Amino acid sequence: MTKIKKIAVFTSGGDSPGMNSAIRAVVRTALAHNLEVMGINRGYQGMIENDFVKMKSKSVRNIIQRGGTILRTARSEEFKTPAGRKKAYTNLKKHGINAAVVIGGDGSFKGAGIFSQEYDIPFVGMPGTIDNDMFGTDYTIGFDTALNTVTEAIDKIKDTAFSHDRTFFIEVMGRDAGFIALKAGIATGAEMVLIPEVEGQEEKLEELLKSSEKNSNIIIVAEGNNIGGASEVAKKFGTKYKSHGIRVNILGHMQRGGSPSAFDRYLASRLGVAAVDALIDNQRSVMVGYSNHEVVLVPFNKTIKGKRDVGEELLRVNEILSK
Ligand code: ADP
Repeated sequence: MTKIKKIAVFTSGGDSPGMNSAIRAVVRTALAHNLEVMGINRGYQGMIENDFVKMKSKSVRNIIQRGGTILRTARSEEFKTPAGRKKAYTNLKKHGINAAVVIGGDGSFKGAGIFSQEYDIPFVGMPGTIDNDMFGTDYTIGFDTALNTVTEAIDKIKDTAFSHDRTFFIEVMGRDAGFIALKAGIATGAEMVLIPEVEGQEEKLEELLKSSEKNSNIIIVAEGNNIGGASEVAKKFGTKYKSHGIRVNILGHMQRGGSPSAFDRYLASRLGVAAVDALIDNQRSVMVGYSNHEVVLVPFNKTIKGKRDVGEELLRVNEILSK
């Protein structure tokens, strides 16, 4: 028998499309198990500032398709301090919360792990980030939508690149991981992708520019690649390869917004049900992930420490097809 009677749900760290679908799934599952649910606005900061709101089935009506997060999100320096976490605990206790679901990335799970070592409130995490770089899950909530947004944007840029025989450097998100860049590269048929996981891409890029003087090129640049951002790369090569008419396009925050794709809604829904089930099952400090089309539970320690990178096979596929 579970001792849990009332749970909290909140979003934390960077937002991603599908977070609302996740909130909805957590709230509806908790209610189906006769648990009470509170939403916490603005992540850990709201927990510290006592910004709680009672969630009913109606509170999550008509949000499954909305981007962003109705509970809003934040980064909280205060939660990194013992005094901040103590305030958070006092507020959780005040509302009679026995357990919580955190929707966010690595940092949010790290905070949850530390908190539930100090205080007896179990946390289960749902992976919400567009970067798809979390260890233990094949997909994070928001990645598929971001990938579709990027693909659509690049298709449009490709039209003008082709018509004018220009080379475009298109910067996409990915400070530590190249999933968006590489998968969008495969999906759009880009000539090259520059990603953090691969060293020594400068020479290859030079080769490409040399060999394609009069053609159009789409080069997707992940923020964290080893040469630099799209503007930097363009600066480096722009003068030498003037005939390419090099242009830069930085897609920026549009990648994080918009209505979640069907896949992200589905993923968030399945993981939301699993997250509440896990809490009822007395699990703590685990992430609910999705691996080989099955829901899996992965300890926070593993997801935080583990590194998930794009893998050789995707690189090989892209290498063959981009020629
Ligand atoms: P993400 O969850 O997207 O990786 P962040 O790394 O910004 O985003 O983490 C979100 C929040 O999690 C931080 O603002 C902070 O409140 C909390 N957090 C992150 N690391 C720690 C930590 N070591 N101790 C306590 N809280 C942490």
